[in-house]
Amino acid sequence: MRRKLLAGNWKMNGHRAEATALARDLAARLASGEGGCEWAICPPFPLIGTVAGAIQGSYIAVGAQDCHSAPSGPHTGDVAAPMLADMGCAYAIVGHSERRRDHGETDEVVRAKAEAAQASGIAPIVCVGETQSQREAGETEAVLARQVETSVPEQPVAGLAVAYEPVWAIGTGLTPTSDEIAAALASIREVLARRFDSATAERIRLLYGGSVKPANAAELWRIDGVDGLLVGAASLSVERFWSIGRSC
Ligand code: 13P
Repeated sequence: MRRKLLAGNWKMNGHRAEATALARDLAARLASGEGGCEWAICPPFPLIGTVAGAIQGSYIAVGAQDCHSAPSGPHTGDVAAPMLADMGCAYAIVGHSERRRDHGETDEVVRAKAEAAQASGIAPIVCVGETQSQREAGETEAVLARQVETSVPEQPVAGLAVAYEPVWAIGTGLTPTSDEIAAALASIREVLARRFDSATAERIRLLYGGSVKPANAAELWRIDGVDGLLVGAASLSVERFWSIGRSC
């Protein structure tokens, strides 16, 4: 049985005071036991320590938004997975479309990052998703297959998740229909089963991300094959993030 995961991706937002307040507020609400899913917050690197401190002892996990593929070394400005593990990170998002776009990350680079995370005991959340033009050209399934074939680690650990985030749905208020999301997730699981075996594919959580908000969360949680949600903007508000989690 795959436990559902709600992960908040703060992207490049937040400062210490508001990060502490949000994380503490969420931890206090969860202490009353109303969360049906696993919760994770992925703040920017400089706030990981702050958030980890604020949620200590709570049911919320902390994650990173990226990691380098090497364990240490001459990579100015980068952050290695063992450092993230040392900070208490349980998850690391890798291959987000904003990193693929801003930093030219290829599927091969994404896989190396995911494998580095796993080697440090961190569960990767590997992001995949088609662009608007790929969708219009009818290439969605082929794009997802290629990304899943190449970006997912050779030996996926139990906690690994693949997040389906259509690029055109991120920050736009647009979402695919429930049927389209179910079809995309089914095609991803098929590729995983082909690449590994069905038992391994069944263990991998499949998340949906892209314009998730309180108004559509209940419907998204109910879609066949959705094992979790990866939330951007709405995770920056404790009320909105809490409401999304409660509808799980
Ligand atoms: P939004 O929820 O802001 O559309 O962002 C989605 C996302 O990119 C999460 O990783």
